[in-house]
Amino acid sequence: MSQAFDLIVIGAGSGGVRAARIAAELGACVAIIEQGALGGTCVNLGCIPKKLFVYSAHFADEFEDAAGFGWNVPRPMFDWPTLRDNTAKEIKRLNGIYQGLLEDAGVEIFLGVARLLDRNRVAVGERELAGERILIATGSRAFVPDWPGREHVITSDDAFSLDSLPERAVVVGGGYIAVEFAGIFTRLGVDTTLLYRGPMFLRGFDDGVREFVADELKKTGLTLRFGDTPQRIDKTGDSLRIETESGTPLETDLVLAATGRLPNTDGLALEEAGVVLGQQREIVVGQDFASSVPHIYAIGDVINRVQLTPVAIAEGAWLASHLFGGTVPASPDYARIATAVFCQPPIGTVGMTEQAARAAYGDDIHVYESEFRPLKHVLTENAERTLMKLVARASDDRVVGVHMAGADAGEIIQGFSVALKAGATKAQFDTTMAIHPTSAEEFVTMRTPRI
Ligand code: FAD
Ligand code: NDP
Repeated sequence: MSQAFDLIVIGAGSGGVRAARIAAELGACVAIIEQGALGGTCVNLGCIPKKLFVYSAHFADEFEDAAGFGWNVPRPMFDWPTLRDNTAKEIKRLNGIYQGLLEDAGVEIFLGVARLLDRNRVAVGERELAGERILIATGSRAFVPDWPGREHVITSDDAFSLDSLPERAVVVGGGYIAVEFAGIFTRLGVDTTLLYRGPMFLRGFDDGVREFVADELKKTGLTLRFGDTPQRIDKTGDSLRIETESGTPLETDLVLAATGRLPNTDGLALEEAGVVLGQQREIVVGQDFASSVPHIYAIGDVINRVQLTPVAIAEGAWLASHLFGGTVPASPDYARIATAVFCQPPIGTVGMTEQAARAAYGDDIHVYESEFRPLKHVLTENAERTLMKLVARASDDRVVGVHMAGADAGEIIQGFSVALKAGATKAQFDTTMAIHPTSAEEFVTMRTPRI
């Protein structure tokens, strides 16, 4: 006999938890199934532990900078097990909070691997659940290319629980995870090389920002090798050797592949139930997140639109309200999603890059740019610089892109993303009073477009 629910959610990550909670709060009888720890990738192996590591990495600079402000700091020592174990403790606390949030909303939690038995029934171990509707929110998993020797490679999942930090590391890839982990390793004292196949990392970000950040990261001691990629990886004793396409090998102690993530659809028996998958094996959904089987829905990384936590949450919230009669929020807006890369210095960005704006509007754009040494560094040896960039459409004065690489970029750009969404004009930026002295004030004081 199967237990019946209005909604079965598979995956208790960012999107699944939000959808389950809202549906239950609206009166639906909801089950959520999770094979790992509650909270999913973001809480356990993503945003949260990563950001805690980024904070730790920043202390390297803070200690060095302190001397210029009169602080005599004895030579600091970094202890990896303390960071790793304190982070793990915090995650355990968050797992408990997620459990409480689900239980308080009346969601029934099932721990185990879920698999569809047919279009309405789901197996979890020995148990069988029946759902009027099923929501797949199973996220994504790290993809490692089929290099010979790939068994010697770790992914970001493993980086959070290393027994010890290596002396040397090679991070392969040029996206968010590669750049963030290369920065973390470098500032925690690991001799790190970032190996990226293309001519410049962070494809899709503003070209000026990419080049600026490449220069800044080099100053921190990170080695960048672009235009090259692994061919094979061999292990001799504790050492790894990467044979690369260029013919110049790399010797290292650890290889982290940050080469993208694929939707988690294997083993769910989705196709047997009639759910159509796309080229990357993502679940293909329409506007309302329904798959080819109308009462089977999917949200978050598994639909492979935008792999970001706030996006999965917005999709989950919208869907639950849409299905169970709440006040339906506006459909998730995929345009102008603000995002940050937590490197050194961090990048914050929203809206069109200069290149995208030029492709869309030709010469009808004005670009405002400011690069400077932030006030915080003038008394220190710290050579880090800040770049701010505004892109506006000339004909109607609309600001279409705001980009920054500098301290607290994520915090600053979050505010400007509201202005962009509201359709702010450059004239409105100009008449906004600055907060002085800050770095962010530069966004409301840049007056002359770049020729
Ligand atoms: P997930 O959060 O991945 O949840 C899916 C859940 O489904 C998992 O818990 C999984 O165990 C479970 N599951 C899968 N299959 C089954 C099954 N068959 N049965 C039962 N359970 C199953 N995003 C940001 O916005 N900011 C960041 O700073 C950021 N940093 C990141 C850093 C790293 C290292 C990584 C890997 C990702 C990062 N992300 C970040 C992306 C973010 O974590 C994801 O976009 C987000 O977690 C997606 O949410 P989701 O609900 O789709 O899936
Ligand atoms: P990304 O898609 O951002 O980057 C993948 C990188 O791997 C690209 O540089 C890509 O190169 C490279 N690559 C892909 N295939 C190969 C291959 N066969 N050989 C060599 N290189 C390869 O993925 P990530 O894994 O970095 O992160 C996954 C997602 O998680 C991100 O897209 C983001 O949405 C989310 N995330 C968000 C964070 C944040 O908000 N701060 C932090 C971390 C993750 P190319 O560019 O040439 O295709």
